[in-house]
Amino acid sequence: MDEQLMQRLMTNLKCRRCSSHYRSCDIKVLGQREKMWLLNVHCPQCQKEVLLAVSLKPLAARKPVTDLNPNEVRHHTQLPPVSPDEVLDLHLFLRSFNGDFSSTFTGDPPA
Ligand SMILES: [Zn+2]
Repeated sequence: MDEQLMQRLMTNLKCRRCSSHYRSCDIKVLGQREKMWLLNVHCPQCQKEVLLAVSLKPLAARKPVTDLNPNEVRHHTQLPPVSPDEVLDLHLFLRSFNGDFSSTFTGDPPA
């Protein structure tokens, strides 16, 4: 990662004193060693200056969030991919869908 990218990332931060966003030009890289960065950040609004030590590490592999049980997950992972025709069918269905899920899933006629 280069200094400009680090400065752009840090513009997502807000000043703890006044909640103003930092601009790239308010962030000076004082040093970097491996994945540790030392930054001087100056708030353009309230003029507060802080030193930040920023450590970057890759995101850990995340498990998908699901309420399916293991058997359901196994079942769904073995299904074939959704086809373009299925997507088109769903699109056509939703175009005329009136929002009545009860009738759709029970087969009852709409009230
Ligand atoms: Zn500030």
